[in-house]
Amino acid sequence: MATGWAQEGAVQEQIDATVKDGILRAKSRLPTGPSLTHCENCNAAIPEARQVAIPGVRLCVPCQEKEDKDAAVFSGYNRRGSKDSQLR
Ligand SMILES: [Zn+2]
Repeated sequence: MATGWAQEGAVQEQIDATVKDGILRAKSRLPTGPSLTHCENCNAAIPEARQVAIPGVRLCVPCQEKEDKDAAVFSGYNRRGSKDSQLR
């Protein structure tokens, strides 16, 4: 009986550890943490509203837009949009 209790306790302990580990891993994927007051890239001040709106924000608006554009060009995702803007 004592053995059965010990096993149950060990299993519960393992479940707790797995859940905690899962939460930690899920958290590490999200861009959380304190927002930066100044851009990581150009050191421009990041508006407080932006810091609040995007927890863990690291870039100012122009740098973020450039980053997004670079990412879009790299993946080829925004190719159609660029073509349309060239026609105007
Ligand atoms: Zn910047």
